[in-house]
Amino acid sequence: MMQKKDNNQILQEFHLRQSRQIIAIAITLFFVLLAAVLYKRPDVFWTFSKSALYSMQIVTIAAFLVFTAYNWTCPSCKKGLGSDINKRVCKKCGARLQ
Ligand SMILES: [Zn+2]
Repeated sequence: MMQKKDNNQILQEFHLRQSRQIIAIAITLFFVLLAAVLYKRPDVFWTFSKSALYSMQIVTIAAFLVFTAYNWTCPSCKKGLGSDINKRVCKKCGARLQ
C-alpha cells in the first residue's frame, strides 16, 4: 500500500518535471532562434548590436542549463536524468517514471 502511493507520487512528480522541461526547451529554442534570426537581419524590429544578440544566446542557454540541473532530476533519487526527455526508468535507482 505504502509502496504503491510512493510510486504514484514519483509518476506525478516526473510528469510535472517533464512538462516543465518541455516548456523550458521551447522557450530556450525560441530565444536562441530569435537571436539567430535577428543576427542575420538585425534591422527587422529594431537595431540590436551583435554582441547583445550573442549575450542573449549565452544567457538563454546558461539559464536553461541551470534550470535543467534543478528540474531534470529523478523524483526518487534526485540524480540527473540525462538527455532523454521520454525516460521510462531511472538508470540510477531503477524507479519507474512513466
Ligand atoms: Zn532515480
